[in-house]
Amino acid sequence: MTARHNLAGFVALQQLLTRRAALVRQRDAPPEELARLRARFSERQGMQQTLEKDRDALGAEQTALEQELKALGEEREHFRRQKAQVTNMRQLTAVVSALDHVEARLAPKKDRLTEVRRKLDEIELKLTELEIESPDERAERQQAEAAWAEARKTGEAELAKTERELRRWQRELGEPAMTQFKKLWASRKPYAVVPLDGHACSFCHADLRPSLVQLVRAMQELQYCDSCRRLLYDPDQLPRLP
Ligand SMILES: [Zn+2]
Repeated sequence: MTARHNLAGFVALQQLLTRRAALVRQRDAPPEELARLRARFSERQGMQQTLEKDRDALGAEQTALEQELKALGEEREHFRRQKAQVTNMRQLTAVVSALDHVEARLAPKKDRLTEVRRKLDEIELKLTELEIESPDERAERQQAEAAWAEARKTGEAELAKTERELRRWQRELGEPAMTQFKKLWASRKPYAVVPLDGHACSFCHADLRPSLVQLVRAMQELQYCDSCRRLLYDPDQLPRLP
């Protein structure tokens, strides 16, 4: 293989690898606007789920409290009837003590039930006011999702095409040239092969020896910038890929 051919291959590989990296980045990251719309949606959805969870827990507590209060109320009725039937002081003292005990258990549960009902009302109000998405917002999000799905499809096709091109160049360049390129790419990517800028290196802007510029233009063998050690090529002879 000639130096000219290898150089053309290296420039093509560099462009393809750069394009592939950009396509992969694009594929993995939705556009900012869509990310914002998704975040808004899931934030409100999360708020709704939290409120619903709280409502369920408080609802269960309310049911339990109502049952407990009912049982305690029946117990109190029982002691009140007993109180009306006592025949001596000792019995009265015992019944009054039992009644006090029931009242003492009833009071905090009543308070708690009032609190739970108040909280439930609050949650219900918040849930009514919380609009996860207006029809306009939904349309906007769905439109952005559809555009993104379409862009991804196009991107995937472009990526597949880029991969095919890369494989074609790998086959064409062969093992030794590929090894050389990989070594260069590993230490200098994404600008391993750089065009001349007149008589200077376009990457590090170092002025090049006239003899080196001559050699780069001749394309008989691979030439490197003395300063940044990047492979040089003459852009007039190797135009950019479409
Ligand atoms: Zn340089």
